[in-house]
Amino acid sequence: MTGGLLGGIEAGGTKFVAVVGTGPDDIRHRLRVDTTTPDQTLDAVVEFFLRNRVASIGIASFGPVELRADHPAYGHITTTPKPGWQDADLIGPISDALDVPVAIETDVTGAALGEWRWGAGRGLDNFIYVTVGTGIGGGALIRGRPVPGLVHSEMGHVSVERQAGDSFPGGCPFHGDCLEGMASGPAIEARWGRPAHGLGADTAHGVDLEARYLAAGFRNLVYVLAPQRIVLGGGVAKMPGLVAAVGEYLVDAMQGYAVLDAHRRGFVVRPGLGDDAGSAGALALAELAGGKSPEWRDHQS
Ligand code: ZN
Repeated sequence: MTGGLLGGIEAGGTKFVAVVGTGPDDIRHRLRVDTTTPDQTLDAVVEFFLRNRVASIGIASFGPVELRADHPAYGHITTTPKPGWQDADLIGPISDALDVPVAIETDVTGAALGEWRWGAGRGLDNFIYVTVGTGIGGGALIRGRPVPGLVHSEMGHVSVERQAGDSFPGGCPFHGDCLEGMASGPAIEARWGRPAHGLGADTAHGVDLEARYLAAGFRNLVYVLAPQRIVLGGGVAKMPGLVAAVGEYLVDAMQGYAVLDAHRRGFVVRPGLGDDAGSAGALALAELAGGKSPEWRDHQS
């Protein structure tokens, strides 16, 4: 008997976290394993769910991952520099061993789903979750559903205008000075010679510059998708005062044209689930997989 319990897998490049429960406030069992080889890591996860049975499973995975359900490599990691994980099948070993419905999304879209279901995106028809850490990624949800397409969206690679006085060339291997190239955690470290949490006396200036770049990138997102809110998560978003500063610079960046809701306090907010967004998102995906959430049915088909 599964008792309607959901299984969530947060598949990361350094660790896998598997949880059993009904939501972020009701986690009954938890497993944390280091990401080693695909066989070893997935065996540990399968064994955990054989001991703790669930009705359906959601996987929120590092990527890139093939998300087209009709593609032969659906649920596989595609190209990754991580040794051993190129072409690794995440969904097959789980669904074969456990014989329950399994859904998969990127980790960012998973976090967005978690925030929509239980966190700072609750009740919204259209919102965007953006994470700023090792990279910059974003997930848009329209009426609680990810926007399906050819690939997952790559909001971190939008173009941004260079801010006055900044000579940093940008760190994106593809575009140089795109948003991720100018504002990710590694970009901050390369520009300042120290990571975001260690800027010391330069913190205020560092936060200010980071906020201006994120606001420049968010202007693109707001004009394209007209979200009701942007949730800003990830390690870099913990820089003191950053979220509020992004909200203010975003209004400036739009220069009075079609400001939508961006003038409103609380347009750019911290995640409601904090660091639990990943595992919560995987549980929200499990609801989707099990068909328990009617609004998500069209996305599955
Ligand atoms: Zn880029």
